[in-house]
Amino acid sequence: MERKTLFVDAIVPLSVPNLYTYRVPYELNDFVQPGVRIIVPFGRNKLHTAVIRTVHENIPTYTTKLLDYILDDIPIVTEVQLKLWEWIATYYMCNIGDVMTAALPSSFKLASETKILLNENFQENESTNLTDNEYIIKDALSLRGTLDLAEIAQIIDRKTVYPIVKRLIDKGVIVVEEEIKAVYRPKKEKYVTLSDSITAEEQLEDVFEGLKRAVKQQELLLQYLQLSNHFGNKTEVKKADLIEKSGLSSAIVKSLYDKNILNEYEVEIGRLKNYNGERQEIKQLTDDQNVALDQIQASFLEKPICLLHGITGSGKTEVYVELMNRYISKGQTVLYLLPEIALTTQIITRLKKYYGDRIGVYHSKFSPHERVEIWNAVLNDKLHQYDVILGARSAVFLPFKKLGLIIVDEEHETSFKQHDPAPRYNARDTSVILARAFKSDVLLGSATPAIETMWNAKEGNFGLVEMKKRFGGVQLPEIQCADIAKAKRKKEMFGIFSAFLLETMKDALKKGEQIILFQNRRGYAPKWMCEDCGWIPMCTQCDVSLTYHKYTQLLSCHYCGYTLRPPSKCGACGSSDIKMVGFGTEKIEEELSVHLGKEVVIQRMDLDTTRSKHAYQNIISDFEQRKIDILVGTQMVTKGLDFDNVSLVGVLNADDMLFYPDYRAFERAYQLMTQVSGRAGRNKKRGKVIIQTHTPDHWIIQKVMQNDYEGMYTQELYERSNFQYPPYYRIIRLTVRHRDKHVVDDASKEFTKALKVKLGNRVLGPEYGAIPRIKNVYNKQVTIKYERNASAKQVKEYILAKIAELRQVNSLYKSVRVKIDVDPV
Ligand code: ADP
Ligand code: ZN
Ligand code: ZN
Repeated sequence: MERKTLFVDAIVPLSVPNLYTYRVPYELNDFVQPGVRIIVPFGRNKLHTAVIRTVHENIPTYTTKLLDYILDDIPIVTEVQLKLWEWIATYYMCNIGDVMTAALPSSFKLASETKILLNENFQENESTNLTDNEYIIKDALSLRGTLDLAEIAQIIDRKTVYPIVKRLIDKGVIVVEEEIKAVYRPKKEKYVTLSDSITAEEQLEDVFEGLKRAVKQQELLLQYLQLSNHFGNKTEVKKADLIEKSGLSSAIVKSLYDKNILNEYEVEIGRLKNYNGERQEIKQLTDDQNVALDQIQASFLEKPICLLHGITGSGKTEVYVELMNRYISKGQTVLYLLPEIALTTQIITRLKKYYGDRIGVYHSKFSPHERVEIWNAVLNDKLHQYDVILGARSAVFLPFKKLGLIIVDEEHETSFKQHDPAPRYNARDTSVILARAFKSDVLLGSATPAIETMWNAKEGNFGLVEMKKRFGGVQLPEIQCADIAKAKRKKEMFGIFSAFLLETMKDALKKGEQIILFQNRRGYAPKWMCEDCGWIPMCTQCDVSLTYHKYTQLLSCHYCGYTLRPPSKCGACGSSDIKMVGFGTEKIEEELSVHLGKEVVIQRMDLDTTRSKHAYQNIISDFEQRKIDILVGTQMVTKGLDFDNVSLVGVLNADDMLFYPDYRAFERAYQLMTQVSGRAGRNKKRGKVIIQTHTPDHWIIQKVMQNDYEGMYTQELYERSNFQYPPYYRIIRLTVRHRDKHVVDDASKEFTKALKVKLGNRVLGPEYGAIPRIKNVYNKQVTIKYERNASAKQVKEYILAKIAELRQVNSLYKSVRVKIDVDPV
């Protein structure tokens, strides 16, 4: 028989531009196929998990290494996914390996540096059954603590250590160090049954007779029969339950195993909790909601993408649910994308009531086990375990099979975009490409759509459906301004609070109503400052001032983590008049207590108070249960929350949002203020919003007060077309980075010049970003703005060519890095 020489081109999870070619050992010829993971040698003495892209017989001109091992029997990455990875790499100008790294849960990837150690919880028993090599590894580990895969290979003198390591992990003998809990191993639970030999009631009598002198064993058997309910029915009894209920030890259980009266077996259980919370019928839609639903469906007959522009509280979620059910009943899956899972516990709770365990939640904060479990469940469409996948942006990477609908909720949110590291993809835009592969529909929902999205709808590229009334006929809140400058003149500012806001708060509290205060993240960093000369302690590695954290009593840098004890003297003039300035949410909390009294319960919600896994959820549920009177927070309090007792929302300083140099500042300010206002008065009574600002006449604030999205959109679009911004132009931001300031200055200048040869005045810069130096690396930005109808492909290819050239023209530039951000937000 003739043996073919096969090669595979594989994607490696590294930031390298190409696929890598390996030769397939003959005996593995039948097993290689795209989407299957393999172990490949890489560089010197390194092994990586790679994914096969193509299998072919084209003999490369260079010598290739053999692939080591195949990890999967069936592809874990589908052809649709591989195409999507390629699209992302091309569109967002990154390496396909970067996409692979972002797309696959980490426990799918082992590398030779991966450190292995003994599992502390491992208990050896007769069923462990280690092979010789497994024993050798186990012994070596108990001697040396940890080993990496290369060392293991040496010890057992074999190249293919992965199968052994994988088996040891499966047996629970070892764990991986990086993420001790990360390597996927199905969780198992022990169950007890009656032995197969006991089939009739009479036999049991004999059994009890035989146990006459073993009282405890009798007791245990009785307890088993009780727990399992019916004789012969073999109802499951958990070993743990049996032991707990009987109060007897596992030694007694074992003696019944030994007598072949009871048997033990293991069941694989999901890590994803079984939902047994409250269940609810879906709500009857109102006429307005039904109209919207019909319009959406009609729109999908013509175009695959539709924008649902519904004001806050219009009941969009219920429309989504009804729509989702239409697809689910056809046996299709729905992907429900949310900007940040941490901020959406409320939606999860709502949807769980409708879908129970038919909804799977997927995001990067989940443990790798849980992610692998969802991945496999979605991959195995025969199981059809989930109707709905709810996820943050990484959920677009799941191996869908029958995707019918994608819902992008709060589509305007910038957190759909990944900033760092590459791939700097936008999950909203990527989902459109994903949908195309399945011919599925996409519904983008928002009360404040992104300008580009609305533009696409108005241009007829997307369908457009509007919901202009709140559910239950509740009015939108009344929005008023507190003029900070005026209040100051009249001595009516108390710290950061205007008398107007304070009085309105007191009123609300008196009526037992709750309040949300919003402080923009930008305006909130508390610093130390010299009263005499204005000196502010700065980070030594970054060009930013240090932020004071009351909790740790340290000044720290948010970019590199550098910390410093607050100085007692000014670093410039030596004065000891140094004090804290700026308002963190902590400071606000403190001041509120002074003004409103100690008995008012205030809770902060910001990055500091929501670090732990459940902190956010706890705060939300405390607020729901009215254990908190005032919730003070940053951006987090604006997103999609639905509380029924909030009557007042205060925006502490709108100016921070309005005045910073970004072409989207006004759009963002409008969205933030409208969204946070939308949290007020969602039930029955009309709510109030007070915006504190120096510029109450600013047109954006006026538009917010008039709830005039259309007006904001029209005005903003006019500016965008005048100043050549999206949607009329597309933007690519390039950041030239190096540790040497001169190199950055020179290289970015030269780079800009080269780009201008063909792109002309579409090239802007170079200029320092808002923070010129981060972690001792200088960065300068070059921005490309090009016409929407220009060839993106040509522009991108040209940029990549110029980056490659730059590194070659001058040996000093070799280590210059250029970060690429396509469609920055
Ligand atoms: P949006 O997402 O548009 O801001 P929601 O979907 O959160 O609005 O709806 C606002 C409130 O109205 C929620 O408390 C929701 O439960 C309620 N609601 C919406 N539609 C209905 C309906 N058809 N029947 C009963 N309650 C509804
Ligand atoms: Zn000073
Ligand atoms: Zn720093």
